[in-house]
Amino acid sequence: MQKGTIRVQTENIFPIIKKFLYSDHDIFLRELISNAVDATQKLKTLSSIGEAKGELGELRIDIKLDAEKKTITISDRGVGMTAEEVEKYINQVAFSGAEEFVKKYKGQNENNIIGKFGLGFYSAFMVSDKVEIFTKSFREGATAVRWECDGSPEYTIEDTEKADRGTDIVLYINEESKEFLESARVEAVLRRFCRFLPVPIFFEPKAG
Ligand code: ADP
Ligand code: MG
Repeated sequence: MQKGTIRVQTENIFPIIKKFLYSDHDIFLRELISNAVDATQKLKTLSSIGEAKGELGELRIDIKLDAEKKTITISDRGVGMTAEEVEKYINQVAFSGAEEFVKKYKGQNENNIIGKFGLGFYSAFMVSDKVEIFTKSFREGATAVRWECDGSPEYTIEDTEKADRGTDIVLYINEESKEFLESARVEAVLRRFCRFLPVPIFFEPKAG
């Protein structure tokens, strides 16, 4: 296992995210699903130009809810990430300028702000005490990696086993967001955000 520090210009991700997005917590699902869709679409593109070899299999996105474990898991069978890609795309968060921008545009379409700074993935921390990523790149012979972070700038990353190509994002839902452990609440968000997506989305609540 390797330990590292996420390079952000702030001590803790929580305050920034909560401050700017307090009003609309359910966008975390949209952000994570759109990342899963992006990863799937990238794989299709790479396959069509011959960079991704072999059968792609069924391309779908699965959302699982486990009320007992208090987790929501978003899984895709897209491009996945290598350890280097996790380092580059997840650990190096560019917060610079975000605060200034938000002050300037406060009130105008605030929900889009988070996307503008590549903070999409970090919106997971609005509703989670801890987030895990299990991911395996489509590249031949890729090693799967597991990343974990509790919203402080400290994260851990280590090699892991994962049968399938793609990414599982596991959210450990925090006490104040437990409404998202109710399947009706999640379904309502999905109905609103997930129409007309180019990849089928499946939702499976586990009775808890
Ligand atoms: P954005 O989507 O605007 O680039 P995000 O914070 O949502 O910003 O995601 C950052 C990056 O992390 C993505 O650009 C992508 O490279 C990587 N990433 C996030 N989720 C996934 C996923 N499910 N599969 C593969 N890569 C991902
Ligand atoms: Mg995104």
